[in-house]
Amino acid sequence: MAKAYVVKGDTVMIRRGKERGKRGTVKAVQIEAGTATVEGANVVKRHTKQGTKSSNMGGSSQTGGIIEKESPLPLSVLQYVCEKCKAPSRLRRGRSTDGAVHRICARCGEPARESAKGA
Ligand SMILES: [Zn+2]
Repeated sequence: MAKAYVVKGDTVMIRRGKERGKRGTVKAVQIEAGTATVEGANVVKRHTKQGTKSSNMGGSSQTGGIIEKESPLPLSVLQYVCEKCKAPSRLRRGRSTDGAVHRICARCGEPARESAKGA
């Protein structure tokens, strides 16, 4: 089943890599790419070049220097963390009485927060 079950706003834990064990909130899911960006995880620092000196007097403080940006992580390394039992957990799919399919924590049985519309 290739469908992503992690949605924006979920808390996830990184299962592999140098940031293994780190937790964060999903900022965005790129379903087609099979990746997701997690807040504060897999941050890449980019040194921006100060080629031409900007003459604008704008209030931006980001004129050159280092930009930190989260890079997408493969969904396969992300483990859902249940908001109720605060533990890494698998999600099951269950059907409620109205027929809608919900994500349910396999550990405590708590239904996961549903995805924001369009996410
Ligand atoms: Zn749970």
